Amino acid sequence: MNQNNTVVRSGRRWVAMSVVAGWWFSACVQAGSAQIEYRQNSDYTTERNLLIETAILDDAVAFINDLFTLEQNIKIVVGTDDGPLYDPSLSEIQIPYHFYTEIIDRYGDIDNREDEQEIFANDAMLHTLFHELGHALTDQLDIPIVGKEEDAVDGLANVLLLEYYDEGAEMARHAAELFALEGEERGELSDADFWDEHSLDEQRYFSTLCHVYGSDPDRFNDLGDELGFSDDRREICEETYTRLVSDWVTLLGPALKH
Ligand SMILES: [Zn+2]
Repeated sequence: MNQNNTVVRSGRRWVAMSVVAGWWFSACVQAGSAQIEYRQNSDYTTERNLLIETAILDDAVAFINDLFTLEQNIKIVVGTDDGPLYDPSLSEIQIPYHFYTEIIDRYGDIDNREDEQEIFANDAMLHTLFHELGHALTDQLDIPIVGKEEDAVDGLANVLLLEYYDEGAEMARHAAELFALEGEERGELSDADFWDEHSLDEQRYFSTLCHVYGSDPDRFNDLGDELGFSDDRREICEETYTRLVSDWVTLLGPALKH
């Protein structure tokens, strides 16, 4: 009897010690961080220099490390051939330089002011980075997603911009505008557009603006007017956005520092 008790006690002690050791190990050894690398590419020297100079992505990396406790590293590689995408096998977010150029070109068709093109492209890049971060966090934290993951991570990108960035609403509006421009360029819809894992560009445009409106209906009343949102639609956007923030806070749990 006594012997059994001793075994049980020492067993428990071992469990307790292993929990502490596990916590220490994960805190000291396994904690990850976001890091960024700009690949050299002689075809995109201007884009590379511009991105490094404006530091929009570097600032975002600092923001990610400040906001999240990551279990593994997330490497952001700018200047890949493919993307934007998240590669789970490498824990890597990949963004090609040509994606940046395409955004500038698309916006250049409607606004020839270079500084405005740059602001627009930087905002859209940031939204894209946070979208891919959503895939990375979903993968690393085993976050359950019911429905389209692409829509879910668009929502996270909007929440991060709207909740944490002073100019977040403007940034999200630029990201929405890029969806609209991409939609215009696509032309006729085909079956492939309907079975794509992403919602249609036009839907991504309206969802993003619905989140912007929902984040502060008084401030964005004019936006609601511009978009022709009905009273019902306005109410739904407000409810959707409030729930989106609270759902992401729940899903991210302890990985969210504040
Ligand atoms: Zn995606």
